Amino acid sequence: MTGQKTIIWDFDGTLVQFTSWRYALIDVLNEFEPGHDIDHEQLRPFLRSGFPWHKPEEPHFHLSTPEAWWDSLEPFFTRVYQSVGFNMERAALLARQVRKQMTNPKRFILFEDTIPVLTELKKNGWRNVILSNHMPELPDIVRSLELTPLIEFCLTSGVTGYEKPNPQAFHMALSLAGDPKNVWMAGDNPISDVKGAEIQGIPAILVRGQKNEEAKYKAKDLWEVIKIIEEQ
Ligand SMILES: [Mg+2]
Repeated sequence: MTGQKTIIWDFDGTLVQFTSWRYALIDVLNEFEPGHDIDHEQLRPFLRSGFPWHKPEEPHFHLSTPEAWWDSLEPFFTRVYQSVGFNMERAALLARQVRKQMTNPKRFILFEDTIPVLTELKKNGWRNVILSNHMPELPDIVRSLELTPLIEFCLTSGVTGYEKPNPQAFHMALSLAGDPKNVWMAGDNPISDVKGAEIQGIPAILVRGQKNEEAKYKAKDLWEVIKIIEEQ
């Protein structure tokens, strides 16, 4: 199997519909603060920095257990809830509930083409792998979506400590895949997926119709990914 032709997939916004943390934070309020009048748009400015993937140049091996990872985010979520009016004590209590909301598999919705395309690629001799900037529980989510039989391995930054576009994230994926000669990256982020892969010499496809003038390969859906990689 070593060196078998490989496609490295991003997860969020690529294989599943974009899962917004804002909605998870609002769902905590729906459960614990019924009748609240906070809209998810109010949370948006406070979530623009604070996640590990906002600092891809900083590896975080010390957060590589689920407990450490979620504990490290609690002060951040606490500040977000404080920013929309909750006192420190209440905000801290709400912050502790985000994990349960965000790790609920029901939050993750596959795109219609994900399973058919991964199945087709596997049938055609491609190895599908996942490389994601995500929480430590991502492999459990992948399993609950019944993707496991189609995926060789799933690397999440919440376990590895490396956020794309950190070169080490790509090196780990390549190394685990046996340094395949024929390898592609496919993802919806022009920087962390496409640029990050290209800098490491991996051709990359920007998926789901994301607009970016610089991207060499673009695919409006995952079926177009098959076309691109099998034509090269
Ligand atoms: Mg993505």
